[in-house]
Amino acid sequence: MRKPAKLFIVLPCYNEEEILEQSARTVLEKYRELLAEKKIGKKSRILFVDDGSKDRTWEIISALHEEDPVFCGIRLSRNKGHQIAIYAGMDYAVSQGAHCVVTIDADLQQDIDALPRFLEKYYEGCDVVYGVRDSRDTDRFFKRTSATIYYKIMRLLGCDLIEQSADYRLLSDRAVKALSSYKESNLFIRGLVPEMGFQSDTVFFHVKEREAGSSKYTLKKMLKLAIDGITSFSIQPIRWVILLGILVFVISVVMMILTLVDHVRGVTVPGWSTLTISIWFLGSVQLLSLGIIGEYVGRTYMEAKSRPRYFISDETGEEHD
Ligand code: UDP
Ligand code: MG
Repeated sequence: MRKPAKLFIVLPCYNEEEILEQSARTVLEKYRELLAEKKIGKKSRILFVDDGSKDRTWEIISALHEEDPVFCGIRLSRNKGHQIAIYAGMDYAVSQGAHCVVTIDADLQQDIDALPRFLEKYYEGCDVVYGVRDSRDTDRFFKRTSATIYYKIMRLLGCDLIEQSADYRLLSDRAVKALSSYKESNLFIRGLVPEMGFQSDTVFFHVKEREAGSSKYTLKKMLKLAIDGITSFSIQPIRWVILLGILVFVISVVMMILTLVDHVRGVTVPGWSTLTISIWFLGSVQLLSLGIIGEYVGRTYMEAKSRPRYFISDETGEEHD
């Protein structure tokens, strides 16, 4: 049995001024409950990661810290996206001596009441505890179907994601250190965590409606996450390009034979349609293939630079003279 752990609850926030205070109260309540039941150690913290917000988010985080040092925060130098924000939070937490971290969205759509169950699994010896949503009924139709299709595609591409797992999870310090040894700058945490191994378990939780503010996951950000996921875990698309090449080659051999037969029979009719269709078809296949390969080459280029993932521009509780 592990001792009451120093737990860091990490909440990534991007322009969350409308809901932050309310969420902070709810998390604090839960924190006090867990503390009273001796399920977590006294040095546990609630850590906000301000992902380069443009509104009053950082002021609210600083005020919360003034009020109660249980709240603390780091501020990223600019908006880096949800994945980097939670990674930055976990990394910082472990650098502050956390034994385990739980990441949860700042809008608390993910049920905070499931937290004790995450901890139970941790005390049973798990290094990774996945939060899995019990249904997707609070999601819009588009998000729900696109997510389901996406998980199917990922499976097809050979990447084993935990179905319907969100970024609500517990990681032990060991698991966070393992995660930080992956040096790729395109972090797809959802794929990396199962890839690491470690003893793991799942906890089911319910997703609620967002109570205030609006979704910060724009379509563009969702697409980026989806493409990052595919390209960082699978080179199948490049293989498909090769298969496509073979297929087109076979077709072209057939076409060659047909053309020769026609030539011998002397029926060399205009054949304009065949020619035009072939040109357009082959052109599009080539461009598409080049595009897919280019995507990977581009990513190799970006990774080869191994740029730093983020910078922390502010920290609560830092001493200034
Ligand atoms: N978020 C972030 N950086 C971003 C976008 C979102 O840190 O660039 C945070 C956001 O503040 C929230 C979490 O990621 O805590 C999930 O975002 P949101 O609730 O907007 O997404 P949804 O629940 O609609 O998928
Ligand atoms: Mg949300």
